[in-house]
Amino acid sequence: MQEDIIVAPGTPQGYGGISIIRISGVGAVDLAEKIFVSRQKLSSSPARYMVLGKLRDSTGQFFDTVLAVHFEEGKSYTGEEMVELHCHGGFASANHCIGELLSLGARLAQGGEFTRRAFTNGKMNLVEAEAVNALIHSASTSALKSAERTLTGELTEKIKSILQDITNFSATLEVDLDFPEEGEGFLSQEEKTSGIGKLLAEIQDILSKCKAGRLLQNGLNIAIVGLPNVGKSSTLNALLEKEKAIVTSIPGTTRDIIEDKIVIGGIPINIIDTAGIRETSDLVESIGVKRSCETIGKADLVLCLLDTSQDAKAQIDFVNEYIKGTNCILLLNKIDLEAHCLTSKDLRTIFPKKKSLEISAFKGYGIDELKRLIFDFASRTCDLENAYSISARQEECLLLAEKDILETSNLIKNDAMPDMVITPISSARRQLANFLGLDATEDLLDTVFATFCVGK
Ligand code: GDP
Repeated sequence: MQEDIIVAPGTPQGYGGISIIRISGVGAVDLAEKIFVSRQKLSSSPARYMVLGKLRDSTGQFFDTVLAVHFEEGKSYTGEEMVELHCHGGFASANHCIGELLSLGARLAQGGEFTRRAFTNGKMNLVEAEAVNALIHSASTSALKSAERTLTGELTEKIKSILQDITNFSATLEVDLDFPEEGEGFLSQEEKTSGIGKLLAEIQDILSKCKAGRLLQNGLNIAIVGLPNVGKSSTLNALLEKEKAIVTSIPGTTRDIIEDKIVIGGIPINIIDTAGIRETSDLVESIGVKRSCETIGKADLVLCLLDTSQDAKAQIDFVNEYIKGTNCILLLNKIDLEAHCLTSKDLRTIFPKKKSLEISAFKGYGIDELKRLIFDFASRTCDLENAYSISARQEECLLLAEKDILETSNLIKNDAMPDMVITPISSARRQLANFLGLDATEDLLDTVFATFCVGK
């Protein structure tokens, strides 16, 4: 249990109905009672019940009417004695309340310190603590559900079970190492191969669910690309349903990258409208063109805008030069116009493997169908229903464990000596222990909790 009492706003600063102040540590109730005055004392009211009272500052003046609630040690978020003061919203009351508590000896909490105390006091493990952060930063309902799935301990149980299997597997290899004269060994070659194969499949299954979780947290990156004036900015605006990008008939209007976010079917989408890619002598525009090419490389999905009324050859050359090898949808824009220099039939013939769709960004034709195709792409890419939200640190642990298990598998296939096999399998075990935060160092905890907001 920590010595000092920490205090922080539990709700964002700003105008709203209420502002909640959290206080945690031994003596939190006593401290709160120095400013909270009520008919029934907070300390003698039942835990987890709201008590109506007033806040009084050091000058003896009342400054807000609030609700207070206290939690007993062991039965609070942090595992410590805790109090929440529910002040009126806005800046004044909450700030004055925190100021008073600080002058009475509390300390302002650091980012994530409440959750760190919960971890230290055994209220949650590191996986759950990191899932709390993911939950707070969820940009969509699906992301929220994937964080909740992780928070409820489903993923922790899976990793613990794999860790146990690895430990058992390593133990049998150790027997081989200790008693080489026993001949065939504790496990036959087939048993070792199938055992390690099962472990690999389990890790890879979790990794794919975590990849889906990452997609739900960070969003799918979509780049809108094409020659100048084909309707990239108009398509961005149509998807966003607002005038984000400037639309003109002058080629080269979008000189740099414009980004925005939308949510399609619960999936956050980061849409990037790039500068039209063309040969240009304008320095600013040419930098924009270079960035567009980089954006294509990083995008999960490319929307390649083509203009039915513009020269077909230049546009087909563009697709061949920049879009090959990417996940892309060819969007044939301006179908509301009479001129059809480039048609859907042309696209199907020249690019039979590429998905194409006719749209009019101007009139809104095909935009709903485009959103459906984007959602289908995201659903195909990963198992969104069973996603887990994990941090970059945790993903790295899983990737390293996968690498170690693959190496173990190869060594077993090549009939390597048991002592060689022990090294990578032990490393995989360490990676999974790191994932769970077993034996976590202070440095590691500092890194993890540094990304949390104050008050969580
Ligand atoms: P960008 O340079 O590729 O970003 O293209 P813009 O979105 O700025 O559009 C270029 C020009 O094409 C503007 O004059 C738009 O009004 C026009 N435009 C864009 N989409 C359509 C469409 O679907 N139909 C028609 N008729 N014109 C469009």
